[in-house]
Amino acid sequence: MSEALNILKEIFGYPAFRGQQAEVIAHLAGGGDCLVLMPTGGGKSLCYQIPALLRNGVAIVVSPLIALMHNQVTALHEIGVRAAVLNSSLSQQEAILVEQKLLADEYDLLYVAPERLLTARFLNLIARIPIALFAIDEAHCVSQWGHDFRPEYIQLSILHERFPAVPRIALTATADMDTRREIMERLGLDLAKVFVSSFDRPNIRYQIIDKTNSRSQLLAFIQAEHPSDAGIVYCLSRKKVEEITLWLVKQGLNAVAYHAGMSMQQRNVNQEKFLREESIIMVATIAFGMGIDKPDVRFVAHLDLPKSIEGYYQETGRAGRDGQAANAWMAYGLGDVIQQRRMIEESEAQFKFKQGAARKLEAMLSLCETTTCRRIRLLSYFGERVDTEGCGNCDICLNPPKVWDATVEVQKAMSCVYRTGQIFGAGHLIDVLRGNLTDRVKEWHHDRISTFGIGKNMPEKTWRAIFRQIVALGLLTPDSEGHGALHLTEASRAVLKGQQNVYLRQQTRTEQLSKKRNRD
Ligand code: ADP
Ligand code: ZN
Repeated sequence: MSEALNILKEIFGYPAFRGQQAEVIAHLAGGGDCLVLMPTGGGKSLCYQIPALLRNGVAIVVSPLIALMHNQVTALHEIGVRAAVLNSSLSQQEAILVEQKLLADEYDLLYVAPERLLTARFLNLIARIPIALFAIDEAHCVSQWGHDFRPEYIQLSILHERFPAVPRIALTATADMDTRREIMERLGLDLAKVFVSSFDRPNIRYQIIDKTNSRSQLLAFIQAEHPSDAGIVYCLSRKKVEEITLWLVKQGLNAVAYHAGMSMQQRNVNQEKFLREESIIMVATIAFGMGIDKPDVRFVAHLDLPKSIEGYYQETGRAGRDGQAANAWMAYGLGDVIQQRRMIEESEAQFKFKQGAARKLEAMLSLCETTTCRRIRLLSYFGERVDTEGCGNCDICLNPPKVWDATVEVQKAMSCVYRTGQIFGAGHLIDVLRGNLTDRVKEWHHDRISTFGIGKNMPEKTWRAIFRQIVALGLLTPDSEGHGALHLTEASRAVLKGQQNVYLRQQTRTEQLSKKRNRD
């Protein structure tokens, strides 16, 4: 039996390695650099913890999160591994004690915050002792594109310059190609071996529904499927987080809030409560979640559209870490598309950054509007090929949407945009199409134009779905003024001229999906 396997069994108490753990461990223990891309819950920690025990010297683990470091060290102590933390949560005396023990070779692993690691004092200190390896956890924090960006991470390339003989392992659950390239470039890992695991989380059921009234849709979802489970509800803004929390509490649910505008103390209280209790809902912005290891999160709900598939994948990935069935649920509507497009447009960022953001949003939108398996879409975004027709565990597979030829309706919508001067949002356009004599319609004399009432045959709900999809498809675009006014695009022309047909998805029937699920 190999020594690594022995340690896995004897110390960690697990019978076998998972996925690529054995290969990664052998490579690192043998002195090679590597980059490990593994989904959340995949078992990244063992990839450096076992080599730390196999190799001579102390393993230095860089982690951006204090809470995460403490959790890991506590878990290691429980199984008798000598580990410690060095970060700003320690008093000066405590820190000095850790440093003394470090020099006395009393640790197998030392978890360090990046800003601490980069100090001249610390670098000089570790130059005096044998180092087993450097592990850079949450390595995507080097990426300036992501929302977890940590400027200190960029300077971690210094480790290679100062300690060229010490092997390094960078780990992340973010898998897209851009981030991967950036990690390798910035950390000087060009020669590192890359280990990519499958990012599939088969126990997570993906579901994206048409947003009508997101609050009551959310409540119905929770009541039907997770009446006493733990879950996370993601919202875009702090204000919405607070509103939704209050509202859920009013409905008799156990909900707490988390966003960057709250005091550190309040955030910690809520996070602790969430980690401790079984039946609790965390309502949060994306500020919440990195490093949270709560195995029994049964659902992750999105009330607003994430900016990218990476974000969506990471956030939904916090569900079902224990491997049991879990739901990733999202309500998505026209307002989301317009809001996200506008945020990119209005941001002060450079052109290149905007372009990148727009591309990521397009990919996210196509996941929302897809008529084929969501899981296959998601995985193919990460460059993973899947050899099946469908996963059988997403809303599309369970309840395939019907696709209809909406060319005529889309032409009507576009003509209406054109005839009203390309200065109105979907609400007013739908009033004109449906022939509603509102004050606004009368004020603008839109009851006298040729498109007034030509869309009476479709209910308002259908029109909203049509507008959402054609905006998502880029056939109409909101202006940059921020009022949601829609105008025609280059791509509209072919449709208006009848040179191109448009096929749209019929509304997902959420009721049917619920019934199907209850039968499972
Ligand atoms: P990640 O950092 O990739 O999110 P962790 O390292 O926290 O994942 O591991 C997730 C869970 O899986 C932990 O509870 C860990 O103990 C468990 N685990 C890891 N490797 C194995 C294994 N080979 N066998 C059984 N359980 C494992
Ligand atoms: Zn599927």
